[in-house]
Amino acid sequence: MIRPGAPEKALFTRWQWLLFLAVLLVVLAWARDQQPVMPEACHDAHRLPCPDLLGADVRIRYHDSKATLTPLCGDVRSNGCALRRVRWREAVCEVHLLQPASELLLLHEMNHCRGWEHDADSQAAYARPWLPNGRLIRSRGRWWSEQPASDPPARAVSRPLVPPVE
Ligand SMILES: [Zn+2]
Repeated sequence: MIRPGAPEKALFTRWQWLLFLAVLLVVLAWARDQQPVMPEACHDAHRLPCPDLLGADVRIRYHDSKATLTPLCGDVRSNGCALRRVRWREAVCEVHLLQPASELLLLHEMNHCRGWEHDADSQAAYARPWLPNGRLIRSRGRWWSEQPASDPPARAVSRPLVPPVE
């Protein structure tokens, strides 16, 4: 029974509140450390697989001539390309390769499927560290505690998928 005029008793003392806040901060810091950090660059992408940031469903199609490849890849010099699409947080990567395709060409396109970009189109550029395509990875719904400093140029963003070649 509370008598009128008696001092109200606080639910928690000041020290209990401080302890609660300290525990909360420790839990939040721990949760943040549990998030994977997005790698900033993929070194040796021209000869080694990069970490898979996209988790795309990969489909590989081989072409006997550039007559069917070039309309898909958009560049007559190209022997292969990776067309990526993210829709409803599902990623599809369609790789098109000219026969006979080397292991390194397949690796190159697969690294695009994993969410990585080279900064220019030359052998020298392929050998430089590749960068994550942050826009593509975010639209996939994969979040890292550190986002890349800047997105690669819009040119590197996946082109729309075209109907499969029969
Ligand atoms: Zn490439």
